[in-house]
Amino acid sequence: MSFADMTDLPAKLREALAAEFTLWESKVVRHLQAPDGTEKLLLELPGGGRIECVLLRDGVRRSICISSQVGCAMGCVFCASGLDGVDRNLTTGEIIEEMLLLQQLLPADERLSHIVVMGMGEPLANLDNLLPALATASDPKGLGISQRRITISTVGLPPAIDRLTREETSYNLAVSLHAPTDELRDQLVPVNKAIGVDAIMEASDRYFEASGRRLTFEYVLLRGVNDRPEDALELAARLRGRPALLNVIPYNPVAGLPYETPYFSAQSKFREILESAGINVQFRERKGDSINAACGQLRRSTPTATEA
Ligand code: SAH
Repeated sequence: MSFADMTDLPAKLREALAAEFTLWESKVVRHLQAPDGTEKLLLELPGGGRIECVLLRDGVRRSICISSQVGCAMGCVFCASGLDGVDRNLTTGEIIEEMLLLQQLLPADERLSHIVVMGMGEPLANLDNLLPALATASDPKGLGISQRRITISTVGLPPAIDRLTREETSYNLAVSLHAPTDELRDQLVPVNKAIGVDAIMEASDRYFEASGRRLTFEYVLLRGVNDRPEDALELAARLRGRPALLNVIPYNPVAGLPYETPYFSAQSKFREILESAGINVQFRERKGDSINAACGQLRRSTPTATEA
């Protein structure tokens, strides 16, 4: 899309607009395509810094995964996005531009159907800028993607979850639990030390009551760390009775980090324990592995202009 494409405007006006204004402020530094239809963009932002965003094709779904911050302050020990800390929040405009750049990768007769805010950054640490961007996405005059097709993934920040509850949003909430107990979660998700699993579960329940949206809990499965049968049993006890989906993500290895993907046998055992406890479990299908589609990995593998 450019001013030249706006053919309902007089040609002179289009020229004048192009001379005075820019339509796109973010620069696509890399554009990768995987055989499964996944596409990933590495963007250089007008406000400085680089972020990643992804388009996923699944049947008729056209989903995008967008970032909310440059870097991340949460420090989850297995994640590539937070290895260098956080630089800054994305602006509302930068977040919308991610959506529009990904929409542009689709042919003219296709529209984005789903958004997950699961890229780089902690979305609930940037609600002031994220909420207006998502309001534009869900507005029929914007991208027209209903709130029910938009998912916000969070490390679990109770005051910010309560803000969503107060604002009566219908976004889906995905909470990155990763461990059933504070003892284990404190090691994997350092911010947990100041929060605690109980407070997260309580805030999530309040959001469910207000929104009626089924909760999702995410659980990155790390070999020998949180994939033991006793972890599955404790997790089942935590989730029992909650109308929740457990989304298990076998670890996607990050260069330089000591964690490994669990053996297939451990994965099946983990699933079996949860299923027999009546928990609704889904194992996340990995998409776009060949293009480093997950979790801040492309940014790390691409030299910046100054390094090159
Ligand atoms: N800050 C938000 C969004 C982060 S990314 C949050 O914590 O939810 C979305 C999910 O990917 C999170 O559950 C995150 O913990 C997980 N993740 C991060 N690194 C991963 C890796 N290397 N392999 C698999 N999942 C990972």
